[in-house]
Amino acid sequence: MIRTLGIVGGTFDPIHYGHLRLAAEVKLALGLPQVLLIPAGIPPHRAPPVASGTDRLAMAELGCAEFAGLCADGREIRHPGPSYTVDTLQALHAEDVTRPLALIIGSDAFAGLSSWRRWEQLFTLAHLVVVERPGAPTLPDAAPPALQEQWNRRLTTDPSRLSRQLAGAIVRQSVTPQPISATEIRAALARGASGRAEVRGLLPAAVLAYIDRNQLYRPLPDAP
Ligand code: ATP
Repeated sequence: MIRTLGIVGGTFDPIHYGHLRLAAEVKLALGLPQVLLIPAGIPPHRAPPVASGTDRLAMAELGCAEFAGLCADGREIRHPGPSYTVDTLQALHAEDVTRPLALIIGSDAFAGLSSWRRWEQLFTLAHLVVVERPGAPTLPDAAPPALQEQWNRRLTTDPSRLSRQLAGAIVRQSVTPQPISATEIRAALARGASGRAEVRGLLPAAVLAYIDRNQLYRPLPDAP
């Protein structure tokens, strides 16, 4: 039986079906027992999230509840200071040193991987499952040379490597394209009622209800 643990990291500001179906389809395609969605506390690579960590974790929990085997994990939110994926993977590895880990990542995020802290160590801690994201540049050409070198060395068409070895393989997995982005969802919600109608169906109804209840991503008040 496959024991490999799938992991999707992100800001999830807010979580949407692009994240959730990505996790669910990879889980099914690769036969993974569980995929953790781990919202980043203070993401070091980008502007700070709009919603608080508590809200982003609560929304991730609501989203995961729609999908068997997806589970939101609050460790990066609870951790003070910036969240580095390499540290999270190290902690997950220490929990069970015999369990392989697979970091599931969109092609846009993969292309920027070599700017992550101790990025080469990621391959010693986990496999990478790279998923094409609509609109993202094509790999490996979009990646800088050092990352292309890792790609060429580690890419395999044999997904059984994900359970036969603990870490170090790169697998490309195709999933149904979901042209959804959190930035676009936030921009639509900031437009008020018309935008709210547009985002319906892009994220779970329970997440949208949470956003309404907690007045997140509201239109900015008019300047005086
Ligand atoms: P933003 O639009 O604000 O950049 P986002 O929708 O990209 O947010 P993130 O939290 O940055 O969300 O993404 C987390 C992970 O999910 C990344 O690996 C990213 O590539 C992947 N991802 C996000 N949306 C999609 C999507 N629609 N299809 C495939 N992968 C996605």
